[in-house]
Amino acid sequence: MKIIIKEDVINREYVCFIKPNYIYLPFDERIKINTYIYKDDLIGNEYSPVSGFVRKTIILGDNKDKYFIVENDFKDRKRRNSVKYLPDNSLINIDKNIKYLIVNAIDTEPYVYVRRTLVKKMSSGILDIVDYIMEKYSIQRTIIAISDDYSYDMLNTYIGTYPKIKIIKVNNYYPVSNNNILLKELSIKKKNNIVNIEHLIDIYKIINNRTFNDTVLITIGGNILKKSINIIVKKGTLLKDVLSFLECKEKDYSLMRGGPLLGKIIKDANIVITENDYAFMLYKNNNPKEEECTLCGRCMDVCPQKLIPMFIMNNVNNQEGLKKLNINKCIDCGLCSYICPARINLRSYIDKAKDLVRNE
Ligand code: SF4
Ligand code: SF4
Repeated sequence: MKIIIKEDVINREYVCFIKPNYIYLPFDERIKINTYIYKDDLIGNEYSPVSGFVRKTIILGDNKDKYFIVENDFKDRKRRNSVKYLPDNSLINIDKNIKYLIVNAIDTEPYVYVRRTLVKKMSSGILDIVDYIMEKYSIQRTIIAISDDYSYDMLNTYIGTYPKIKIIKVNNYYPVSNNNILLKELSIKKKNNIVNIEHLIDIYKIINNRTFNDTVLITIGGNILKKSINIIVKKGTLLKDVLSFLECKEKDYSLMRGGPLLGKIIKDANIVITENDYAFMLYKNNNPKEEECTLCGRCMDVCPQKLIPMFIMNNVNNQEGLKKLNINKCIDCGLCSYICPARINLRSYIDKAKDLVRNE
């Protein structure tokens, strides 16, 4: 059975759900129930994306974290000068001794369309902010790396006035969005400052709008949807509310936080969307069973770091063995798990292996 999605939603490039009735902010013991929160107030470790009253607390997510439920009054009231400072190294990690900047505008995974949508939406703003950063940090040259034609054309429309910024279209394969792989693809050996496009937009909003970026763009995809959807939501929105806005009626599905390669299965949609979210995948619930490794070698063939994932799996408790297998070179791309015909979750073994080596 397909999830029913509003027709006007699937035909648009992105939709917005930026007026939720409730926002979920991390519990902060300084704040009492019925306190009025202003937009951009720092609650826990999050800047509030709305103004309104704290109504109650709730426990959510697989980690059972405690949150405040804030009733949105839709006034977006802010304190005077709530955002006072311009970007410095607390907002952007720029090494002032390195005179080059790489902007990573390539989507992190296949079937995720966040970065290319941001480029389409904010082309001239992105170039403006790169120009600002270059001037502020005396950066001599910037490369914006992208992988799809449309974003390339959009940025090129505005690039004429920015002679120190170059747009490079790289080969479109996974995991070229990984910073180390990207540098190899660009044949850059020197040390560089690398920043991703979402981060640039955060800075753009602070400089131009004097506010923290209160939204996040996510792709909602998976094989029970007719088509992937890009949606802009307020940070702190409950995923369940987003799916309800999209009229997702299906009940029997597996939910993945992240894209098809890097995502992790989560129990249900009672989770709070944060700035680190970029995709959720909804899959038919066919519960495939893990089978025995047949030593087919596909995980090894596909690994961009030339590791041997099935050996890593077999040595998951052997610290010395894992070091010899160069576990530290793994870039967490998830390709080994994705390709495995026996449906072995190699990434979970790799995570355990990394923990073992890290905690020695
Ligand atoms: S791809 Fe899967 S079945 Fe094949 S060798 Fe790797 S772990 Fe074993
Ligand atoms: S996740 Fe798997 S395929 Fe990717 S680098 Fe690590 S071992 Fe290799």
